[in-house]
Amino acid sequence: MTASNAPFVPPGTGWPGDPATPRTPVAGTPQQVRELADQAPTLQELCARQSVCRACPRLVDWREQVALRRRRAFADQQYWGRPVPGWGQERPRLLIVGLAPAAHGGNRTGRIFTGDRSGDWLFASLHRTGLAELPTSVHAGDGQRLPDARMVATVRCAPPANKPTPAERTTCLPWLEREVALVAPWVRVIVALGGYAWQGLWPVLRQVGYRIPRPRPAFGHGVEVELGPPAAAGPEPVTLLGCYHPSQQNTFTGRVTEEMLDAVFTRARDLAGPPQRGGREPVAGSGPCSAVDTAEAPVGP
Ligand code: SF4
Repeated sequence: MTASNAPFVPPGTGWPGDPATPRTPVAGTPQQVRELADQAPTLQELCARQSVCRACPRLVDWREQVALRRRRAFADQQYWGRPVPGWGQERPRLLIVGLAPAAHGGNRTGRIFTGDRSGDWLFASLHRTGLAELPTSVHAGDGQRLPDARMVATVRCAPPANKPTPAERTTCLPWLEREVALVAPWVRVIVALGGYAWQGLWPVLRQVGYRIPRPRPAFGHGVEVELGPPAAAGPEPVTLLGCYHPSQQNTFTGRVTEEMLDAVFTRARDLAGPPQRGGREPVAGSGPCSAVDTAEAPVGP
């Protein structure tokens, strides 16, 4: 889409996979986030509501400023400039959780981990391990697909300096709680990308009904935690896996290597088991909400 002077893509104007319409209700306060998340009847409607949220004034201002100023390399592109909703299968066996979208990644492309260096590393690894159809993820209409996975973020808007405040994290949590609850019947493995995602997940998992160990295990690359599943998920255990974030800081310094990422995602794939046949319905399209960055924020290990 050619750049305009609009600070965000208006809902329902043709962005690939835009889940919202002009009639999608907009949350303007933390209380409205809670109400609209809890009352979202479907995953698609939840994504639509996520994608138009305006409950955090500082983050709304930042994401729209970035969308208007743009980076020189993307000066001719329209930026998404809205919250980045969950993306991927509606019935995933693998759930990948990051922190928040990158200013010129997800905030530009409208799809999580898409269009930035962290995403380059992440999708290359997912492709090598059979979890993504393409080795790259560059824009919302590129045909990328996660056959059996879903990606979400603990905070849906790009934060200044990649650091949401504690209040902003709390305000955004109901979106994640509802999304995790809606996919919980199918999820067998959860991968937390980075320590912030690991920390942000605990209250969500508890709220959704997972039984979590005490004391809570410390984050580390390759750390595995068995979770008691919520009632809706049946008796099969669910495994939480820690994975260092593929931020430039981590990849440049060698803290994270391709082999390390591949090891975690190979383990996740093996724990998740083969995709279900027949019972799983792929989500149409390939845009922000459908089959398939904060998950991309380059902070923390
Ligand atoms: S961070 Fe979350 S709660 Fe805050 S404006 Fe963005 S989507 Fe809404």
